[in-house]
Amino acid sequence: MAFSVPDLPYAFDALEPHIDALTMEIHHDKHHAAYVTNGNKAIDGTEWADKTAEEILTSQAALGVPAIRNNIGGHFNHTLFWESLSPDGGGEPSGGLADAVNSAFGSFSDFQEKANAAGVGRFGSGWWWLVGDGTGVELISTPNQDTPLIDGKTPLLGVDVWEHAYYLKYQNRRPEYLAAIWNVINWNVVAERFSAAS
Ligand code: MN
Repeated sequence: MAFSVPDLPYAFDALEPHIDALTMEIHHDKHHAAYVTNGNKAIDGTEWADKTAEEILTSQAALGVPAIRNNIGGHFNHTLFWESLSPDGGGEPSGGLADAVNSAFGSFSDFQEKANAAGVGRFGSGWWWLVGDGTGVELISTPNQDTPLIDGKTPLLGVDVWEHAYYLKYQNRRPEYLAAIWNVINWNVVAERFSAAS
């Protein structure tokens, strides 16, 4: 069954002023839609046509086809990204996720510092990720639309550092975007993913 773009769980302008409405509209309606269109084209008529995104993105054979890797990866990453943001977000994680973050990074602010550095340090386009490895959490970054699934990690939170995610409002100031996005992170959703992965 072909993939489709999920509706945003909030309005385009819901994340203002941290992420502007026009960026959200173009990012969701144009960029994400293009990954879906091109991903569906790439898997049409292949053995991957009826597989889930997770099945496709953990298959070495599928990952060897750039049009599948990049576009199904883009669809998977963006679906997770929209769900990870909320106008009621921000603050810090609690419970078991907070314990795991503190254990891995020392403190939440140390985690933020390292995550921002990973986002700034990703040359060109990609993502920073908080991932689960079955017991704890760690921070990684990936190029392009590669997902943590490639390395057997469970994505808990991903932040898009492609220029299309921030350029209209922040232009070349990626660090400002990375600092602002903490205000809209939906820690409830991240904690649910952490629980499911632990
Ligand atoms: Mn994007």
